[in-house]
Amino acid sequence: MENGGSELKPMDSEQLRECGHRMVDFIADYYRTIENFPVLSQVQPDYLRNLLPDSAPDQPENLEEVLSDVQEKILPGLTHWQSPNYFAYYPSNSSIAGFLGEMLSAGLNIVGFSWITSPAATELEMIVLDWLSQLLNLPEQFLSKGNGGGVIQGTASEAVLVVLIAARDKVLRKVGKDALEKLVVYASDQTHSSLQKACQISAIRPENCRLLKTDASTNYALSPESLQAAISHDLASGLIPFFICASVGTTSSTAVDPLPALGRIAKDNEMWFHVDAAYAGSACICPEYRQYIDGIEEADSFNMNAHKWFLTNFDCSLLWVKDRNSLIQALSTNPEFLKNKASQANLVVDYKDWQIPLGRRFRSLKLWMVMRLYGSEKLQCYIRNHINLAKHFEELVSGDSRFEIVTPRIFSLVCFRLKPVDNDEDKCKKQNHELLDAVNSTGKMFISHTVLSGKFVLRFAVGAPLTEEKHVKEAWNNIQEQASKLLGVHAG
Ligand SMILES: *Cc1c(COP(=O)(O)O)cnc(C)c1O
Repeated sequence: MENGGSELKPMDSEQLRECGHRMVDFIADYYRTIENFPVLSQVQPDYLRNLLPDSAPDQPENLEEVLSDVQEKILPGLTHWQSPNYFAYYPSNSSIAGFLGEMLSAGLNIVGFSWITSPAATELEMIVLDWLSQLLNLPEQFLSKGNGGGVIQGTASEAVLVVLIAARDKVLRKVGKDALEKLVVYASDQTHSSLQKACQISAIRPENCRLLKTDASTNYALSPESLQAAISHDLASGLIPFFICASVGTTSSTAVDPLPALGRIAKDNEMWFHVDAAYAGSACICPEYRQYIDGIEEADSFNMNAHKWFLTNFDCSLLWVKDRNSLIQALSTNPEFLKNKASQANLVVDYKDWQIPLGRRFRSLKLWMVMRLYGSEKLQCYIRNHINLAKHFEELVSGDSRFEIVTPRIFSLVCFRLKPVDNDEDKCKKQNHELLDAVNSTGKMFISHTVLSGKFVLRFAVGAPLTEEKHVKEAWNNIQEQASKLLGVHAG
Protein backbone atom coordinates (compact mmCIF):
# COMPACT_ATOMS: atom_id res chain seq x y z
CA MET A 1 0.00 0.00 0.00
CA GLU A 2 1.29 3.43 -0.93
CA ASN A 3 1.79 5.79 1.98
CA GLY A 4 4.08 8.50 0.68
CA GLY A 5 7.31 7.32 2.29
CA SER A 6 9.26 4.13 2.64
CA GLU A 7 7.86 3.48 6.08
CA LEU A 8 5.06 0.93 6.54
CA LYS A 9 2.03 2.15 8.52
CA PRO A 10 -0.06 -0.97 8.79
CA MET A 11 -2.79 0.53 10.96
CA ASP A 12 -2.79 4.25 10.22
CA SER A 13 -6.27 5.41 11.13
CA GLU A 14 -6.82 7.77 8.18
CA GLN A 15 -5.77 5.11 5.72
CA LEU A 16 -8.03 2.64 7.50
CA ARG A 17 -10.95 5.02 7.16
CA GLU A 18 -10.39 5.51 3.45
CA CYS A 19 -9.67 1.90 2.58
CA GLY A 20 -12.36 0.60 4.91
CA HIS A 21 -15.00 2.73 3.20
CA ARG A 22 -13.77 1.53 -0.17
CA MET A 23 -14.02 -2.09 0.96
CA VAL A 24 -17.54 -1.64 2.34
CA ASP A 25 -18.53 -0.13 -1.02
CA PHE A 26 -17.02 -3.12 -2.79
CA ILE A 27 -18.94 -5.57 -0.61
CA ALA A 28 -22.20 -3.62 -0.92
CA ASP A 29 -21.80 -3.70 -4.72
CA TYR A 30 -21.21 -7.44 -4.52
CA TYR A 31 -24.50 -7.94 -2.75
CA ARG A 32 -26.29 -5.58 -5.16
CA THR A 33 -25.13 -7.63 -8.14
CA ILE A 34 -24.97 -11.08 -6.54
CA GLU A 35 -27.72 -12.48 -8.77
CA ASN A 36 -25.62 -11.86 -11.88
CA PHE A 37 -23.16 -14.62 -10.99
CA PRO A 38 -23.73 -18.34 -11.57
CA VAL A 39 -24.63 -19.56 -8.08
CA LEU A 40 -22.40 -22.62 -8.34
CA SER A 41 -18.93 -21.66 -9.50
CA GLN A 42 -18.30 -22.93 -13.03
CA VAL A 43 -14.47 -22.80 -12.99
CA GLN A 44 -12.21 -25.81 -13.57
CA PRO A 45 -9.70 -27.14 -11.02
CA ASP A 46 -6.48 -25.07 -10.81
CA TYR A 47 -8.09 -22.18 -12.70
CA LEU A 48 -6.49 -19.60 -10.42
CA ARG A 49 -2.87 -20.64 -10.86
CA ASN A 50 -2.91 -19.38 -14.45
CA LEU A 51 -4.36 -16.06 -13.45
CA LEU A 52 -2.02 -15.05 -10.61
CA PRO A 53 1.76 -14.53 -10.54
CA ASP A 54 4.04 -17.27 -9.21
CA SER A 55 5.45 -15.17 -6.38
CA ALA A 56 4.46 -12.38 -4.01
CA PRO A 57 5.21 -8.76 -5.05
CA ASP A 58 8.36 -7.07 -3.72
CA GLN A 59 6.82 -3.63 -3.76
CA PRO A 60 3.44 -2.48 -2.41
CA GLU A 61 0.51 -2.56 -4.80
CA ASN A 62 -2.57 -0.42 -4.35
CA LEU A 63 -5.98 -1.47 -3.13
CA GLU A 64 -7.69 -0.75 -6.48
CA GLU A 65 -5.40 -3.23 -8.24
CA VAL A 66 -6.20 -5.89 -5.67
CA LEU A 67 -9.95 -5.22 -5.80
CA SER A 68 -9.89 -5.42 -9.55
CA ASP A 69 -8.27 -8.87 -9.28
CA VAL A 70 -10.92 -9.87 -6.76
CA GLN A 71 -13.62 -8.82 -9.19
CA GLU A 72 -12.04 -10.44 -12.27
CA LYS A 73 -10.32 -13.49 -10.85
CA ILE A 74 -11.68 -14.38 -7.42
CA LEU A 75 -15.43 -13.82 -7.75
CA PRO A 76 -15.76 -16.26 -10.68
CA GLY A 77 -14.23 -18.90 -8.41
CA LEU A 78 -16.86 -18.39 -5.72
CA THR A 79 -19.96 -20.42 -5.09
CA HIS A 80 -22.33 -17.73 -3.91
CA TRP A 81 -23.62 -18.93 -0.56
CA GLN A 82 -25.40 -15.64 0.02
CA SER A 83 -27.20 -15.66 -3.32
CA PRO A 84 -31.01 -15.70 -3.01
CA ASN A 85 -30.88 -18.67 -5.40
CA TYR A 86 -28.69 -20.74 -3.11
CA PHE A 87 -30.62 -23.77 -1.82
CA ALA A 88 -27.83 -26.32 -1.30
CA TYR A 89 -26.57 -28.12 1.86
CA TYR A 90 -27.68 -25.83 4.68
CA PRO A 91 -27.54 -22.05 4.59
CA SER A 92 -24.62 -20.11 6.05
CA ASN A 93 -26.18 -16.78 6.85
CA SER A 94 -24.66 -13.38 6.62
CA SER A 95 -26.42 -10.23 7.74
CA ILE A 96 -25.53 -6.59 8.16
CA ALA A 97 -25.45 -7.03 11.95
CA GLY A 98 -23.32 -10.16 11.69
CA PHE A 99 -21.02 -8.46 9.19
CA LEU A 100 -20.62 -5.37 11.37
CA GLY A 101 -19.85 -7.54 14.38
CA GLU A 102 -17.26 -9.46 12.40
CA MET A 103 -15.77 -6.19 11.21
CA LEU A 104 -15.60 -4.86 14.75
CA SER A 105 -14.00 -8.06 15.95
CA ALA A 106 -11.41 -7.87 13.13
CA GLY A 107 -10.82 -4.22 13.96
CA LEU A 108 -10.27 -4.71 17.68
CA ASN A 109 -8.34 -7.93 17.02
CA ILE A 110 -7.94 -9.12 20.59
CA VAL A 111 -7.11 -12.71 21.50
CA GLY A 112 -9.35 -13.66 24.41
CA PHE A 113 -8.11 -17.02 25.62
CA SER A 114 -8.28 -16.16 29.31
CA TRP A 115 -10.38 -13.58 31.12
CA ILE A 116 -7.47 -11.20 31.71
CA THR A 117 -6.54 -11.08 28.01
CA SER A 118 -9.78 -9.08 27.47
CA PRO A 119 -12.34 -9.37 30.24
CA ALA A 120 -15.14 -8.04 28.02
CA ALA A 121 -14.66 -10.84 25.49
CA THR A 122 -15.20 -13.58 28.05
CA GLU A 123 -17.99 -11.82 29.88
CA LEU A 124 -19.90 -10.83 26.74
CA GLU A 125 -19.72 -14.42 25.50
CA MET A 126 -21.18 -15.70 28.77
CA ILE A 127 -23.96 -13.11 28.73
CA VAL A 128 -24.93 -13.57 25.09
CA LEU A 129 -25.02 -17.35 25.43
CA ASP A 130 -27.20 -16.98 28.52
CA TRP A 131 -29.53 -14.74 26.47
CA LEU A 132 -29.82 -17.29 23.72
CA SER A 133 -30.19 -20.14 26.19
CA GLN A 134 -33.22 -18.33 27.60
CA LEU A 135 -34.60 -17.68 24.14
CA LEU A 136 -34.36 -21.42 23.43
CA ASN A 137 -35.83 -22.14 26.83
CA LEU A 138 -32.94 -24.46 27.68
CA PRO A 139 -32.83 -25.90 31.20
CA GLU A 140 -31.40 -23.55 33.85
CA GLN A 141 -28.37 -25.79 34.33
CA PHE A 142 -27.03 -24.58 30.98
CA LEU A 143 -26.81 -21.00 32.29
CA SER A 144 -23.45 -19.64 33.39
CA LYS A 145 -24.60 -18.75 36.91
CA GLY A 146 -24.36 -22.37 38.10
CA ASN A 147 -22.00 -25.17 37.09
CA GLY A 148 -22.81 -24.95 33.39
CA GLY A 149 -22.57 -22.36 30.68
CA GLY A 150 -22.17 -21.68 27.00
CA VAL A 151 -19.10 -21.26 24.83
CA ILE A 152 -18.61 -20.32 21.19
CA GLN A 153 -16.74 -22.91 19.17
CA GLY A 154 -15.70 -22.53 15.54
CA THR A 155 -17.87 -25.36 14.25
CA ALA A 156 -20.24 -28.12 15.34
CA SER A 157 -17.38 -30.54 14.63
CA GLU A 158 -15.25 -28.92 17.34
CA ALA A 159 -18.24 -28.84 19.68
CA VAL A 160 -18.85 -32.58 19.46
CA LEU A 161 -15.14 -33.29 19.75
CA VAL A 162 -14.70 -31.33 22.97
CA VAL A 163 -17.73 -32.88 24.64
CA LEU A 164 -16.71 -36.36 23.54
CA ILE A 165 -13.29 -35.84 25.10
CA ALA A 166 -14.87 -34.46 28.28
CA ALA A 167 -17.20 -37.46 28.49
CA ARG A 168 -14.39 -39.91 27.73
CA ASP A 169 -12.15 -38.54 30.48
CA LYS A 170 -15.05 -38.40 32.91
CA VAL A 171 -15.84 -42.09 32.46
CA LEU A 172 -12.16 -43.06 32.47
CA ARG A 173 -11.73 -41.34 35.83
CA LYS A 174 -14.37 -43.74 37.11
CA VAL A 175 -13.39 -47.00 35.43
CA GLY A 176 -9.65 -46.50 34.98
CA LYS A 177 -7.56 -45.37 32.01
CA ASP A 178 -6.98 -48.90 30.78
CA ALA A 179 -10.64 -49.19 29.85
CA LEU A 180 -10.30 -46.83 26.86
CA GLU A 181 -10.73 -49.61 24.34
CA LYS A 182 -14.00 -50.69 25.95
CA LEU A 183 -15.73 -47.33 25.55
CA VAL A 184 -18.69 -47.27 23.15
CA VAL A 185 -20.38 -44.34 21.38
CA TYR A 186 -23.96 -44.49 20.01
CA ALA A 187 -25.75 -42.44 17.39
CA SER A 188 -27.90 -43.03 14.33
CA ASP A 189 -26.54 -43.67 10.85
CA GLN A 190 -27.89 -40.20 9.95
CA THR A 191 -25.61 -38.47 12.44
CA HIS A 192 -23.21 -35.94 10.97
CA SER A 193 -19.82 -37.40 10.02
CA SER A 194 -18.15 -35.03 12.50
CA LEU A 195 -19.05 -37.51 15.28
CA GLN A 196 -17.06 -40.22 13.57
CA LYS A 197 -14.14 -37.86 13.12
CA ALA A 198 -14.35 -36.93 16.80
CA CYS A 199 -14.19 -40.63 17.69
CA GLN A 200 -11.12 -41.06 15.49
CA ILE A 201 -9.36 -38.11 17.10
CA SER A 202 -10.21 -39.12 20.64
CA ALA A 203 -9.01 -42.71 20.21
CA ILE A 204 -12.39 -44.42 20.49
CA ARG A 205 -12.00 -47.72 18.67
CA PRO A 206 -13.71 -47.51 15.26
CA GLU A 207 -15.54 -50.77 15.95
CA ASN A 208 -16.97 -49.18 19.12
CA CYS A 209 -18.69 -46.39 17.25
CA ARG A 210 -22.27 -47.64 16.79
CA LEU A 211 -24.13 -45.87 14.02
CA LEU A 212 -27.51 -47.52 14.42
CA LYS A 213 -29.59 -48.11 11.35
CA THR A 214 -32.62 -45.92 10.69
CA ASP A 215 -35.21 -46.07 7.93
CA ALA A 216 -38.28 -44.44 6.46
CA SER A 217 -40.57 -45.98 9.10
CA THR A 218 -39.31 -43.44 11.69
CA ASN A 219 -38.47 -40.78 9.10
CA TYR A 220 -34.82 -41.60 9.79
CA ALA A 221 -35.00 -40.92 13.52
CA LEU A 222 -33.07 -43.15 15.92
CA SER A 223 -35.33 -45.71 17.56
CA PRO A 224 -34.98 -45.94 21.36
CA GLU A 225 -35.59 -49.70 21.13
CA SER A 226 -32.63 -50.25 18.84
CA LEU A 227 -30.47 -48.02 21.05
CA GLN A 228 -31.48 -49.96 24.16
CA ALA A 229 -30.83 -53.28 22.41
CA ALA A 230 -27.35 -52.20 21.29
CA ILE A 231 -26.45 -50.96 24.78
CA SER A 232 -27.69 -54.15 26.45
CA HIS A 233 -25.74 -56.25 23.97
CA ASP A 234 -22.54 -54.26 24.59
CA LEU A 235 -22.95 -54.38 28.38
CA ALA A 236 -23.33 -58.15 28.17
CA SER A 237 -20.06 -58.27 26.22
CA GLY A 238 -18.24 -56.34 28.94
CA LEU A 239 -18.06 -53.07 27.01
CA ILE A 240 -18.71 -49.62 28.51
CA PRO A 241 -21.41 -47.50 26.81
CA PHE A 242 -20.61 -43.87 27.65
CA PHE A 243 -21.85 -41.44 24.97
CA ILE A 244 -25.05 -40.89 22.98
CA CYS A 245 -25.24 -38.25 20.26
CA ALA A 246 -28.80 -37.37 19.25
CA SER A 247 -29.60 -35.13 16.30
CA VAL A 248 -32.37 -32.59 15.99
CA GLY A 249 -32.48 -31.89 12.27
CA THR A 250 -30.07 -34.29 10.58
CA THR A 251 -27.96 -33.03 7.72
CA SER A 252 -29.51 -35.33 5.11
CA SER A 253 -33.19 -34.89 5.81
CA THR A 254 -33.81 -32.94 9.09
CA ALA A 255 -34.72 -36.11 11.00
CA VAL A 256 -35.42 -35.45 14.68
CA ASP A 257 -34.35 -38.08 17.20
CA PRO A 258 -36.77 -38.64 20.12
CA LEU A 259 -34.89 -36.80 22.87
CA PRO A 260 -37.07 -37.77 25.86
CA ALA A 261 -36.73 -41.52 25.27
CA LEU A 262 -33.04 -41.35 24.35
CA GLY A 263 -32.37 -39.12 27.36
CA ARG A 264 -33.94 -41.66 29.71
CA ILE A 265 -31.70 -44.39 28.33
CA ALA A 266 -28.65 -42.15 28.75
CA LYS A 267 -29.63 -41.40 32.32
CA ASP A 268 -30.33 -45.03 33.25
CA ASN A 269 -26.90 -46.01 31.95
CA GLU A 270 -25.03 -42.95 33.28
CA MET A 271 -23.98 -41.92 29.81
CA TRP A 272 -23.17 -38.47 28.42
CA PHE A 273 -26.06 -37.22 26.26
CA HIS A 274 -25.15 -34.74 23.53
CA VAL A 275 -27.71 -33.07 21.28
CA ASP A 276 -26.60 -31.82 17.86
CA ALA A 277 -29.04 -29.25 16.51
CA ALA A 278 -26.51 -27.49 14.30
CA TYR A 279 -29.06 -26.37 11.72
CA ALA A 280 -32.50 -26.77 13.32
CA GLY A 281 -31.60 -25.30 16.71
CA SER A 282 -32.26 -21.82 15.33
CA ALA A 283 -35.90 -22.71 14.62
CA CYS A 284 -36.40 -23.60 18.28
CA ILE A 285 -36.43 -19.89 19.22
CA CYS A 286 -40.01 -19.95 17.85
CA PRO A 287 -42.44 -21.32 20.45
CA GLU A 288 -44.16 -23.50 17.82
CA TYR A 289 -40.86 -25.27 16.98
CA ARG A 290 -39.52 -25.52 20.54
CA GLN A 291 -41.20 -28.96 20.85
CA TYR A 292 -38.43 -30.46 18.73
CA ILE A 293 -36.00 -30.06 21.61
CA ASP A 294 -38.44 -31.21 24.28
CA GLY A 295 -36.41 -33.62 26.36
CA ILE A 296 -33.34 -31.37 26.30
CA GLU A 297 -33.61 -31.41 30.12
CA GLU A 298 -31.75 -34.74 30.10
CA ALA A 299 -28.94 -33.55 27.83
CA ASP A 300 -25.43 -32.93 29.12
CA SER A 301 -24.59 -30.74 26.15
CA PHE A 302 -26.41 -28.94 23.34
CA ASN A 303 -25.06 -27.42 20.15
CA MET A 304 -26.43 -25.12 17.45
CA ASN A 305 -24.67 -23.21 14.70
CA ALA A 306 -25.57 -19.54 14.80
CA HIS A 307 -23.65 -19.32 11.52
CA LYS A 308 -26.13 -21.52 9.70
CA TRP A 309 -29.57 -20.05 10.13
CA PHE A 310 -29.26 -17.33 12.75
CA LEU A 311 -27.93 -14.40 10.72
CA THR A 312 -24.48 -14.61 12.31
CA ASN A 313 -21.60 -14.66 9.85
CA PHE A 314 -19.39 -17.76 9.84
CA ASP A 315 -17.99 -18.98 12.19
CA CYS A 316 -20.09 -19.14 15.33
CA SER A 317 -21.09 -22.52 16.77
CA LEU A 318 -22.78 -22.39 20.15
CA LEU A 319 -22.21 -25.10 22.73
CA TRP A 320 -23.84 -25.33 26.13
CA VAL A 321 -22.84 -27.78 28.85
CA LYS A 322 -24.37 -28.50 32.24
CA ASP A 323 -21.09 -29.39 33.91
CA ARG A 324 -18.30 -27.15 32.74
CA ASN A 325 -15.85 -28.91 35.04
CA SER A 326 -15.92 -31.97 32.81
CA LEU A 327 -14.71 -29.83 29.93
CA ILE A 328 -12.13 -28.04 32.02
CA GLN A 329 -10.75 -31.24 33.53
CA ALA A 330 -10.23 -32.64 30.05
CA LEU A 331 -8.91 -29.54 28.32
CA SER A 332 -7.14 -27.24 30.77
CA THR A 333 -3.46 -26.47 30.97
CA ASN A 334 -1.86 -23.99 33.28
CA PRO A 335 1.57 -22.92 32.01
CA GLU A 336 3.56 -20.40 34.03
CA PHE A 337 3.48 -17.73 31.31
CA LEU A 338 -0.32 -17.54 31.46
CA LYS A 339 -0.69 -17.40 35.24
CA ASN A 340 -2.58 -14.40 36.59
CA LYS A 341 -4.37 -13.41 39.79
CA ALA A 342 -7.95 -13.71 38.58
CA SER A 343 -7.43 -17.17 37.12
CA GLN A 344 -5.44 -18.46 40.08
CA ALA A 345 -8.14 -17.28 42.46
CA ASN A 346 -10.74 -19.12 40.39
CA LEU A 347 -12.79 -15.97 40.03
CA VAL A 348 -13.23 -16.12 36.28
CA VAL A 349 -13.95 -18.29 33.26
CA ASP A 350 -10.92 -18.95 31.05
CA TYR A 351 -12.37 -20.14 27.77
CA LYS A 352 -9.02 -21.62 26.67
CA ASP A 353 -10.00 -24.56 28.91
CA TRP A 354 -13.29 -25.15 27.05
CA GLN A 355 -11.81 -25.62 23.58
CA ILE A 356 -8.98 -27.15 21.56
CA PRO A 357 -6.84 -24.12 20.60
CA LEU A 358 -5.44 -21.57 22.97
CA GLY A 359 -6.13 -18.48 20.88
CA ARG A 360 -9.69 -17.41 20.29
CA ARG A 361 -11.51 -14.69 18.39
CA PHE A 362 -14.00 -12.20 19.83
CA ARG A 363 -16.93 -14.01 18.20
CA SER A 364 -19.58 -13.02 20.71
CA LEU A 365 -19.58 -9.47 19.31
CA LYS A 366 -21.32 -10.52 16.11
CA LEU A 367 -23.89 -12.67 17.91
CA TRP A 368 -24.56 -9.82 20.34
CA MET A 369 -25.02 -7.42 17.44
CA VAL A 370 -27.39 -9.81 15.68
CA MET A 371 -29.52 -10.17 18.81
CA ARG A 372 -29.54 -6.43 19.52
CA LEU A 373 -29.96 -5.05 16.02
CA TYR A 374 -32.73 -7.52 15.07
CA GLY A 375 -34.38 -8.50 18.36
CA SER A 376 -35.98 -11.88 19.05
CA GLU A 377 -39.27 -11.12 17.32
CA LYS A 378 -37.65 -10.27 14.00
CA LEU A 379 -35.42 -13.33 14.30
CA GLN A 380 -38.48 -15.51 14.82
CA CYS A 381 -40.15 -13.95 11.75
CA TYR A 382 -37.01 -14.61 9.76
CA ILE A 383 -37.15 -18.33 10.59
CA ARG A 384 -40.90 -18.55 9.95
CA ASN A 385 -40.57 -16.86 6.60
CA HIS A 386 -38.04 -19.44 5.41
CA ILE A 387 -40.18 -22.29 6.67
CA ASN A 388 -43.18 -20.85 4.82
CA LEU A 389 -41.13 -20.56 1.63
CA ALA A 390 -40.12 -24.20 2.01
CA LYS A 391 -43.78 -25.13 2.50
CA HIS A 392 -44.59 -23.25 -0.66
CA PHE A 393 -41.90 -25.16 -2.56
CA GLU A 394 -43.25 -28.41 -1.15
CA GLU A 395 -46.72 -27.55 -2.50
CA LEU A 396 -45.30 -26.77 -5.92
CA VAL A 397 -43.51 -30.14 -6.01
CA SER A 398 -46.65 -31.95 -4.85
CA GLY A 399 -48.59 -30.37 -7.71
CA ASP A 400 -46.42 -32.02 -10.36
CA SER A 401 -47.21 -35.71 -10.71
CA ARG A 402 -43.73 -36.51 -12.05
CA PHE A 403 -42.23 -35.68 -8.65
CA GLU A 404 -42.64 -36.91 -5.09
CA ILE A 405 -41.76 -35.64 -1.62
CA VAL A 406 -39.45 -38.26 -0.08
CA THR A 407 -39.62 -37.44 3.64
CA PRO A 408 -42.08 -35.13 5.38
CA ARG A 409 -40.80 -31.55 5.59
CA ILE A 410 -40.30 -30.31 9.16
CA PHE A 411 -38.21 -27.13 8.91
CA SER A 412 -36.99 -25.38 5.76
CA LEU A 413 -35.59 -28.38 3.88
CA VAL A 414 -37.60 -30.19 1.20
CA CYS A 415 -36.38 -33.66 0.15
CA PHE A 416 -37.88 -34.63 -3.20
CA ARG A 417 -37.16 -36.50 -6.41
CA LEU A 418 -38.49 -37.51 -9.78
CA LYS A 419 -40.64 -40.58 -9.19
CA PRO A 420 -39.50 -43.94 -10.57
CA VAL A 421 -41.36 -45.13 -13.64
CA ASP A 422 -42.34 -48.83 -13.68
CA ASN A 423 -40.52 -49.28 -10.35
CA ASP A 424 -37.18 -48.88 -12.11
CA GLU A 425 -35.10 -47.53 -9.19
CA ASP A 426 -31.81 -47.65 -11.10
CA LYS A 427 -33.11 -45.52 -13.89
CA CYS A 428 -34.75 -43.21 -11.37
CA LYS A 429 -31.45 -42.68 -9.58
CA LYS A 430 -29.73 -41.86 -12.86
CA GLN A 431 -32.45 -39.42 -13.89
CA ASN A 432 -32.38 -37.57 -10.59
CA HIS A 433 -28.62 -37.30 -10.76
CA GLU A 434 -28.89 -35.91 -14.29
CA LEU A 435 -31.57 -33.49 -13.20
CA LEU A 436 -29.35 -32.25 -10.35
CA ASP A 437 -26.44 -31.63 -12.73
CA ALA A 438 -28.66 -29.99 -15.33
CA VAL A 439 -30.28 -27.65 -12.81
CA ASN A 440 -26.98 -26.60 -11.24
CA SER A 441 -25.16 -26.10 -14.52
CA THR A 442 -27.70 -23.45 -15.56
CA GLY A 443 -26.02 -21.25 -12.95
CA LYS A 444 -29.48 -19.97 -12.00
CA MET A 445 -29.61 -21.87 -8.71
CA PHE A 446 -27.78 -24.40 -6.61
CA ILE A 447 -29.31 -27.43 -4.88
CA SER A 448 -27.58 -30.50 -3.45
CA HIS A 449 -28.48 -34.14 -2.91
CA THR A 450 -28.42 -36.99 -0.45
CA VAL A 451 -29.14 -40.71 -0.45
CA LEU A 452 -31.92 -42.12 1.76
CA SER A 453 -32.63 -45.88 1.78
CA GLY A 454 -30.72 -46.15 -1.48
CA LYS A 455 -32.80 -43.43 -3.15
CA PHE A 456 -31.01 -40.52 -4.79
CA VAL A 457 -32.80 -37.52 -3.29
CA LEU A 458 -32.69 -33.82 -4.18
CA ARG A 459 -32.44 -31.36 -1.30
CA PHE A 460 -33.95 -27.88 -1.49
CA ALA A 461 -32.93 -25.94 1.62
CA VAL A 462 -34.38 -22.46 2.01
CA GLY A 463 -32.41 -20.14 4.27
CA ALA A 464 -30.27 -17.61 2.42
CA PRO A 465 -30.91 -14.13 3.80
CA LEU A 466 -31.92 -12.66 0.41
CA THR A 467 -34.31 -15.43 -0.69
CA GLU A 468 -37.88 -14.31 -1.47
CA GLU A 469 -40.93 -16.09 -2.83
CA LYS A 470 -40.07 -15.16 -6.41
CA HIS A 471 -36.71 -16.94 -6.13
CA VAL A 472 -38.40 -20.10 -4.91
CA LYS A 473 -40.91 -19.93 -7.79
CA GLU A 474 -38.18 -19.34 -10.36
CA ALA A 475 -36.13 -22.19 -8.94
CA TRP A 476 -39.11 -24.52 -9.26
CA ASN A 477 -39.75 -23.34 -12.84
CA ASN A 478 -36.13 -24.08 -13.65
CA ILE A 479 -36.35 -27.55 -12.11
CA GLN A 480 -39.54 -28.29 -14.07
CA GLU A 481 -38.01 -27.03 -17.29
CA GLN A 482 -34.88 -29.18 -16.88
CA ALA A 483 -37.02 -32.18 -15.94
CA SER A 484 -39.11 -31.73 -19.10
CA LYS A 485 -35.97 -31.59 -21.25
CA LEU A 486 -34.64 -34.67 -19.55
CA LEU A 487 -37.85 -36.67 -19.82
CA GLY A 488 -38.59 -35.33 -23.27
CA VAL A 489 -42.12 -34.26 -22.35
CA HIS A 490 -43.89 -31.18 -21.13
CA ALA A 491 -44.71 -30.32 -17.54
CA GLY A 492 -47.61 -32.37 -16.23
C1 LIG B 1 -23.79 -28.66 9.46
C2 LIG B 1 -23.92 -29.71 10.49
C3 LIG B 1 -22.80 -30.13 11.24
C4 LIG B 1 -21.41 -29.68 10.96
O1 LIG B 1 -21.23 -28.35 11.13
P1 LIG B 1 -19.79 -27.67 11.18
O2 LIG B 1 -20.07 -26.47 12.00
O3 LIG B 1 -19.45 -27.37 9.77
O4 LIG B 1 -18.84 -28.59 11.81
C5 LIG B 1 -23.02 -31.04 12.25
N1 LIG B 1 -24.23 -31.53 12.51
C6 LIG B 1 -25.31 -31.17 11.79
C7 LIG B 1 -26.66 -31.76 12.13
C8 LIG B 1 -25.18 -30.25 10.76
O5 LIG B 1 -26.26 -29.90 10.04
